Amino acid sequence: MREPTHASAYELMLEENVDEANLLNWRRQLCSECDGTGTTWNGVALFASDFDEDPDLGESVMNGSFDRPCETCHGSKVVEAVCPQVTEPSAYAVFEIFLQDIYECRAEEAAERQAGC
Ligand SMILES: [Zn+2]
Repeated sequence: MREPTHASAYELMLEENVDEANLLNWRRQLCSECDGTGTTWNGVALFASDFDEDPDLGESVMNGSFDRPCETCHGSKVVEAVCPQVTEPSAYAVFEIFLQDIYECRAEEAAERQAGC
């Protein structure tokens, strides 16, 4: 399982036949999305009044009833990411340019969604 943003940048490099794509070194690392727990909150908003109405709710939360598998690592708790420590600096610099492109692209898409396009 590769970190989605890193994987996208890598694919983009392959598409554009960038030689540095083959020089990237991947290392397993703790998933930063779920902090290595493998699960993330399912997005339900709970209010103090919910806890007042349901005395068991606090326990359900503690038991992980509101957790879902992490979308980034799919519960595996680790992802493969390009490691700057073991990658040729020149290759990593190229990778970072592609990575930046992906981030900017995502930010634009998110902005467009918010604007209702
Ligand atoms: Zn995760």
